Amino acid sequence: MKMLEKVEEFNMDKVIDKFEELTKDAERVQRETLRRILEDNASAEYLQNLGLHGRTDPESFKAHVPLVTHKELEPYIIRIIDGDASSILTGKPITTVSLSSGTTQGKPKYLPWNDELFETSVHMNQTSFAFRNREFPIKNGKALSFIYSSKQFKTKGGLTAGTSTTNLFRHEKYKCTMKALQSQCCSPDEVIFGPDFHQSLYCHLLCGLIFREEVQLVSSTFAHSIVHAFRTFEQVWEELCTDIREGVLTGKITVPSIRTAMSKLLKPNPELANLIEKKCMGLNNWYGLIPELFPNIKYIHGIMTGSMEPYVKKLKHYARELPLVTADYGASEGCIAANVNPKLPPELATYAVLPHLGYFEFIPLSELEQTNCGPNFHRVDPHTVGLTEVKVGEEYEIVTTNPAGLYRYRLGDVFKVMGFHNSTPELKFVRRSSLLLTINIDKNTENDLQLAVEAAAKLVAAENLEVVDYTSHVDSSTEPGHYVIFWEMNGEASEELLGECCNCLDKSFVDAGYISSRKTSCIGPLELRVVRSGTFQKILEHFLGLGAAASQYKTPRCVAASHSKVLQILSEDVVRSYLSSAFN
Ligand code: AMP
Repeated sequence: MKMLEKVEEFNMDKVIDKFEELTKDAERVQRETLRRILEDNASAEYLQNLGLHGRTDPESFKAHVPLVTHKELEPYIIRIIDGDASSILTGKPITTVSLSSGTTQGKPKYLPWNDELFETSVHMNQTSFAFRNREFPIKNGKALSFIYSSKQFKTKGGLTAGTSTTNLFRHEKYKCTMKALQSQCCSPDEVIFGPDFHQSLYCHLLCGLIFREEVQLVSSTFAHSIVHAFRTFEQVWEELCTDIREGVLTGKITVPSIRTAMSKLLKPNPELANLIEKKCMGLNNWYGLIPELFPNIKYIHGIMTGSMEPYVKKLKHYARELPLVTADYGASEGCIAANVNPKLPPELATYAVLPHLGYFEFIPLSELEQTNCGPNFHRVDPHTVGLTEVKVGEEYEIVTTNPAGLYRYRLGDVFKVMGFHNSTPELKFVRRSSLLLTINIDKNTENDLQLAVEAAAKLVAAENLEVVDYTSHVDSSTEPGHYVIFWEMNGEASEELLGECCNCLDKSFVDAGYISSRKTSCIGPLELRVVRSGTFQKILEHFLGLGAAASQYKTPRCVAASHSKVLQILSEDVVRSYLSSAFN
């Protein structure tokens, strides 16, 4: 990959032209990218053992290298983490590892990370920024960015480890490259890099208010963090106003570096405090909070698709008519596709694959369904098609080969091809590929669960209540097993209404396998368990305690019996539970 352009050379038109050029010839770019990755890593033990003998063409690559998941690579990654500095997965030894958020599998995964992967982030961010800024130009503004960098630490073998966002923020070139792409963040580094998520969040909010006239953008990596921030604002706004009025930071903020940094920004400002107070008191159920607080804001930015979809409704409530712009598609395994149509609302958003960031293959979903094998159950490798061979309207699971030692790695995400930008596909994120709920012959994905929850949430919305968050679990301790849905709500609903919600959830799983299993009592009545307010916050904290970064957090949508700690948090907080009626 070409070395990074320096900040002063960053030219948005050039970036767009480059993207157009690369995507016009996506097939050739893919071949070259694969060749480069295989040449750079030819000495890696993993590749040597597969007998490629210097061949770098896609056909030989596919014939010799198996499709893998993290599980198959784990023994290699463990050796790296433990300090084996030989060329294991890459030519140049890996010195940094990333921790994924781990909310799908219950624990973070370790993944190799290197400068080349950093560069993929820069390229992806530069591309989407250029397109975004063309549509929504921001001049001399500040960004209220709810970003949090968790700690880096050393592994047993002395490698630096951190979440991928942390590795990114702490990379020596981050400041001079990525920062040029954003409006200046209104929070000081001490807040972003603070050791306590709650204290950082409070101070992000405070900084946003101090610079309210200059804030032109509210952002985070994932929409969950933005919604969580403004839900927190609802709780702490009076305290924030007191701090602003008196020019003294609340005693709740105890981290000395944050206190010092904030004291430089905070001056007594009773007018501002009164104004914010007046605005907060004038709002109806916090509708339009964000534009009220930040009169010059242009848009809200963060990932809003996939598991973030359930937060879009609340985001719209806070945002009123402000544009919501979804961010890009990437993972700890590397960056893949950029949002180059920023005007599309989150429901219609697509991601254009950048063909020079990695080598990408696609498993047709129809093939996976036929062989009835999810990512962990395949016996023979399913057939893949290349980036430019995908078909509009079809769904695929994506497979990536990246410059940091992942070869034909199944990311576990499913996309639908919506069209092409030149010759690169524009993908709509559909879901994680793993099945969430299955007991008998039923198959329900995170989308099915989301649709069921949305249908039942409409019933409570009629009473001005909302479902704050949700997750699910298969309870096999009963005979027959049954689905359990955990719900946190923002108020009390009647027994009758919750009973109706429980029936609605049960009826909303329209998968034929589920319906027939319910009818024949091979699956028992669905159980709705309502949990106390704050339960999902405890789950977030549990994951942060495991090393996840708040910026990358995704609520687990299904909790396996093996995730005993999360299940324990949920179970201890159940306040009411309901069983659905007989199915006929
Ligand atoms: P992590 O490696 O923990 O940061 O998580 C990466 C995962 O987040 C991906 O595999 C996707 O499942 C999800 N993800 C990332 N970007 C998006 C996006 N734009 N839309 C939906 N899901 C996303």
